[in-house]
Amino acid sequence: MPTGSLKDRASAIVTARALETGVARIIAASTGNAGVAQAAMANAAGISAVVVVPETAPKGKVAQLVVFGAELLLVKGNYDAAFELALRASAELGWYCRNTAYNPFSAEGKKTVAFEICEQLAAELGPPKSGQGWRAPDRIFVSVGDGNIISGLHKGLKDLHALGWIDRMPKLVGVQSEGSAAVANAFAAGTETITPVTATTIADSISADRPADGVRAVRAARQTEGVIIKVSDQQILDAIVALGRDATIFAEPAASAAYAGLLAQVDAKAVDPEEQVVVLVTGNGLKDVASASRATAEPPHIEPTVEALQQALAVTRGTR
Ligand SMILES: *Cc1c(COP(=O)(O)O)cnc(C)c1O
Repeated sequence: MPTGSLKDRASAIVTARALETGVARIIAASTGNAGVAQAAMANAAGISAVVVVPETAPKGKVAQLVVFGAELLLVKGNYDAAFELALRASAELGWYCRNTAYNPFSAEGKKTVAFEICEQLAAELGPPKSGQGWRAPDRIFVSVGDGNIISGLHKGLKDLHALGWIDRMPKLVGVQSEGSAAVANAFAAGTETITPVTATTIADSISADRPADGVRAVRAARQTEGVIIKVSDQQILDAIVALGRDATIFAEPAASAAYAGLLAQVDAKAVDPEEQVVVLVTGNGLKDVASASRATAEPPHIEPTVEALQQALAVTRGTR
C-alpha cells in the first residue's frame, strides 16, 4: 500500500488500463483514499488526475493529494455528490472515470488482495490438507463503504477456487458503520435492493449514502455464508486502540472498523476460537490523526525532571 490504503490496488490497475488505451486524463471521485491512490499512480505514469473529494475530507488525505500533484477540487457536498459530479464530468468532457465500482477495473485491482492472503497463508502454514495449492482462511473481515473491496475479494477468491488453487471459499464478513449501513440493512432485510441512507460516521472512507457496489457486496456475504454487520463509531474508535495494542498496527477509522467487527463477532460467539481469521486493515492511521487522538487520552505534560517523570508514572526509586 504505497499511499497507505488498499485503494492503491484499484488505482494501479485502472492506471494500467488507462495507459493501454492511451488516456490522457483520469477523473476520480473519492472520500480521500481512492483519490490519493489515483493521484499517485497517475503521477508515476505521467497521466493527469482530476480528483474530487468532499471538502470535509481528513487533512492528511488532502495533503497527500496535493503532494502527489492531483488537480484537486474540494466539493461542497458529500461523497455521493462528488461521485455524481465525476460521472457527469466524465460523460461531458470525455475523461476516463475511475469511480469505484463504476469502473470495472477497480474490483479487478482489489481482488489481488485475495491472491496475496492465500499465497501468504500457504507460505506460512504449509499447503492445505489436499496437499497442494494455496490456503484459504476460514473467515475474512473487511470494512464496507461502497462494497467494492468485498466484491473484489469475493471475485479473487472465486477465481482461485475455480482454478483449484484453494479448496474452499472463506466466509466473508462485511463491516459497516451504524451511521452508513445501507448494505448491512439490505443484508438484514434479506434483499438485494439497496435503500440509500443519509450517511454520518467518523469513518469517512466507509461513508456512502448510496453504496456503488452494494448489490455485489450483499452477494459476497450471502454466497459465502458470511454476513454484513454494523458497528458504532465508538466501537470503531475503540478498535483503533485495540488494534494498536493487540497487533501493533495503526489504522484509520474505516480500517479499524473491520477489527471492531471481529471483536463484536467474538463477543457474540459467532466466530469459533479455532478458526483462521484474516482482518483486512485497509488504511493507515496516519491518514486521520484527529480520529486517533479522539480515541485516546491526552498524555501528561511534565517538567523535564526525573521527579516529575516518576510522579507522572507513579513509580518510585528502585522500580524497574
Ligand atoms: C475505501 C475504503 C474502504 C471501503 O471500501 P469500499 O470498496 O468502499 O467498500 C475501507 N477502508 C478504507 C481505509 C478505505 O479507503
